[in-house]
Amino acid sequence: MGLQETIKENLICVSCKNSIERTTISDESIKCDSCKVNYPLINNISVIINEAESIFSFSDFINQKNLFFDISKKGNSISYLSKVILPSIGGNNLGKKNFKFLENSLLNNKSQNKPKVLVIGGSIVGDGMADFVNSENLEIVEGDVSFGPRTKIIFDAHSIPYKDQSFDCIIAQAVLEHVIDPMKCVREIHRVLKPNGIVYAETPFMQQVHGGPYDFTRYSHSGHRKLFQNFTEIKSGATAGSGAALAWSYQYFLLALFGYNKTMKLLIKFFARLTGFWIKYFDYLTQCNVRDNDGASGFYFIGTKSDKQLSDKELINYYFKAKK
Ligand SMILES: [Zn+2]
Repeated sequence: MGLQETIKENLICVSCKNSIERTTISDESIKCDSCKVNYPLINNISVIINEAESIFSFSDFINQKNLFFDISKKGNSISYLSKVILPSIGGNNLGKKNFKFLENSLLNNKSQNKPKVLVIGGSIVGDGMADFVNSENLEIVEGDVSFGPRTKIIFDAHSIPYKDQSFDCIIAQAVLEHVIDPMKCVREIHRVLKPNGIVYAETPFMQQVHGGPYDFTRYSHSGHRKLFQNFTEIKSGATAGSGAALAWSYQYFLLALFGYNKTMKLLIKFFARLTGFWIKYFDYLTQCNVRDNDGASGFYFIGTKSDKQLSDKELINYYFKAKK
């Protein structure tokens, strides 16, 4: 069994940047013919990371260490069960609609082939993304830094192992808060997008720490726009409003007061969900209102790759324009 053609196409070595699309692939590894780095192949999933620069190592994946999401244990843990049976405290109200919009935009733009999409953080199907990633009209490559049911390739978003202009679209849903250097990751996204390629990002603003040691950054609506300064905006806005933000705060407030140990933390999460799930429904009243940009739980950004950079002056006007 070899690597899927879709995964191999335009693949580069993240160490020397030469092509490894047609390089030596054995059952256990992909060897870069230029710099001789051996990238492990685990259950036919290639691990293309630059060990010298990444916080991850080959051994993390060879030992199948739990790095971010522990997918394997989710099925039998009580916390996972609570997520399935109890209402959530906050969610994503626009994901499904946005992904439909995205698919339509890609299909309208397409030249001859199926639009090729890279999903960063794609080990599991994200909120509202199911129809999109299963669409027969799109060629999807799902990459992550953890093994999950959907992981096709392991890579670090700071060095995307693909040639310039390889993709029509890149998705980063709830990813950029978990990377060390979001600017660098967005530069990589820009590099591997084709001209006029589309980026879709969802990033939290008023959300407490999730993902333990792998949670670093938050963005305001304007901050998120600055991050994508080399893109032309198609649209942007809150994915969940200040209602969801309040519900999250309620849960983390209770955790700070009473979350002494694992059992208490679990009980509080149960309690917060049971008693606080309704707060998020206020988002239906406010979310379409741009006032919520100042207190929303998180934002999405959809934009096309551009050669022009948004100036800082334009960024200041952007705040007022978004409020109109
Ligand atoms: Zn190399």
